[in-house]
Amino acid sequence: MNAPTGRMTDFIRKQTYETEVLQLRRRLAKVHRILTAGGMWPLTKGHASARIPGTDKVLILGHIHATGRSLDQVDVDDIVVVNLEGEWLEGEIEPVDERYLHLEIMKARPDVMSVVHAHSTYATAFGVADVNILPVGNRGAIFGPSVPILQFDRQIDTPERGRMVSDLMGKGCAVVLKNHGVAVASDSIENACITAFALEETAHLHWIAAQLGPVQRISTGEVQSVLTGARKAEFFAHAWGHYAKLDPWDGMNRPV
Ligand SMILES: [Zn+2]
Repeated sequence: MNAPTGRMTDFIRKQTYETEVLQLRRRLAKVHRILTAGGMWPLTKGHASARIPGTDKVLILGHIHATGRSLDQVDVDDIVVVNLEGEWLEGEIEPVDERYLHLEIMKARPDVMSVVHAHSTYATAFGVADVNILPVGNRGAIFGPSVPILQFDRQIDTPERGRMVSDLMGKGCAVVLKNHGVAVASDSIENACITAFALEETAHLHWIAAQLGPVQRISTGEVQSVLTGARKAEFFAHAWGHYAKLDPWDGMNRPV
């Protein structure tokens, strides 16, 4: 058989890219449904994003909230493509206004492949009260030494506002947005989803513990051992199966 021509090689490369992007779209749509089912955005508003590896393009939710749709049925066609500057490149639905929250974090952090913006109740309450969430309990170590609070309560709908979130996050994985919600970042779509749940579970536990007495954070040594090395991979690997089951499409004969 003859070696593929240049045109054939380009065709195969394009097909491979499109298949990879479709897989990312499916995973991202699934995470929206899971976060909705898990109550991470009580008013069904919020969004997740994913960088397309090796490009300056990002997959993000279209503004389906504008038509009153719930995020419990997000599908691949609801995901659109923007570049890191926020320009809308592909897709039928205008991207969400707060895309700059995602994009500025990704610009500053090449290690970040996915961002979730949620309005989870307990974590948001800490911002309302101006109390930092501490690393407590089984799920809290990744949030050490504490979760910063952005002292700004408006929409993150410009690059400048996105940079405020990114600057505050620094090398961490979470920020609480005062009177608004949270932003979390991770190295994959699934891990960003797990981080959003872990932040809410940690905030909930911190709040309950605070009713009982002084809150004792996880030791620095334990935080370090989870934040670095193999235990970090373990932290995420053991959790995904649990959250994946929340997908209302799980077990249905659909390409999820
Ligand atoms: Zn928001």
